[in-house]
Amino acid sequence: MSNIMDLDKKYVLPTYARADVEFVRGSNAKLFDSEGKKYIDFASGIAVCSVGHANKRVNDAICKQISNITHTSNLYYIAPQARAAQKIVEASGYDMKCFFGNSGAEANEGAIKIARKFGEKDGEVKRYKVITLQHSFHGRTITTVKATGQEKMHSYFGPYPDGFVYADDINHVASLVDEHTCAVMIELVQGEGGVQPLDRESVQKLAAFLKEKNVLLIVDEVQTGIYRTGKFLASNYYDIEPDVVTLAKGLGGGVPIGVVMTTLKEVFSAGDHGSTFGGNFLSTTAACEVVDILNEMNESGELQESIDYFDSELEKFYAAHKDVFTSKVGIGMMCGLRVRDADTLTKIVSKAREEGAIVLKAGRDTLRLLPALTITKEETDEGFKALNRALNSL
Ligand SMILES: *Cc1c(COP(=O)(O)O)cnc(C)c1O
Repeated sequence: MSNIMDLDKKYVLPTYARADVEFVRGSNAKLFDSEGKKYIDFASGIAVCSVGHANKRVNDAICKQISNITHTSNLYYIAPQARAAQKIVEASGYDMKCFFGNSGAEANEGAIKIARKFGEKDGEVKRYKVITLQHSFHGRTITTVKATGQEKMHSYFGPYPDGFVYADDINHVASLVDEHTCAVMIELVQGEGGVQPLDRESVQKLAAFLKEKNVLLIVDEVQTGIYRTGKFLASNYYDIEPDVVTLAKGLGGGVPIGVVMTTLKEVFSAGDHGSTFGGNFLSTTAACEVVDILNEMNESGELQESIDYFDSELEKFYAAHKDVFTSKVGIGMMCGLRVRDADTLTKIVSKAREEGAIVLKAGRDTLRLLPALTITKEETDEGFKALNRALNSL
């Protein structure tokens, strides 16, 4: 461990405030560190390991695929890419087509390119403005940093691309739409911003308004997508029909992948967009298996059962510690508890780790829980026992 810490400190740029732990092995919602200590993982690598660590079906599918071929580039047909696109579109219930990239930020870049091209072609004046929300998070590239409605993230890297406008909240979006607006981009449950679900009626009202104005609705489902909220997409839960949806985190079960999907099937022509690695055999094979597993869990009712159990245990935990937590927030397996103050939150995260539970911080004051959708009752129980110990030792 110390050797790895030394290597990391010497050779890796210090962009992360890493915790002093090195995980070496995982199994569903369990993690084991280099000292052999066991943890219950309520974070899933930030909503990435949606079907748990070392999922046998995903691993077998990947191993079988890469023993044949891993990558050819997008100059040729890629069978699992076409199949993954079909599975994703069918599960979404929307009449869309997909483009494959490698990350959430890249998916959002694609969404913004779609919106800008649509805005260029459709209408009398060139439309380029994209409205996003305060406290949003859309990624770390120059453009997606600028799309992110958090002033603190715009400190050093300018000049930025023009055309991003921030609404204070969902009810203020409509008033910002003008003749140059091509799209509105929102997370239905803000993740990094602090597990903040948007009001359902406000979202539906906005979606109808944008349709009438011929302004695109982009839903960033990088964190909320792939059954995180209990439905394949949070957009399904909100019962809206977005023009563009982006996916990434939970889709590859740990293998890097990003998707932008849209109803505007003709918006791009060959050469308008691309990615060397995007949609290769490795990542799309993983995505096919992840979507199959979760579709099956959804159909059998197992997914809802797992969500309900986790939620009831979270409710008990919240009830037992109302001196520390002020409210319970979230939808499905994207949930959390608001903490009275930010210092206590930082202490909870590290105490929890000492006691054997991995949890996340979101925003300033939210304890965020994003367990694997395959988490068992036993793992859930063990994780909350560790969290109770952590709270009792504060
Ligand atoms: C994580 C996240 C991103 C960025 O994804 P990367 O894969 O880190 O580029 C974008 N949008 C949302 C909502 C996210 O949660």
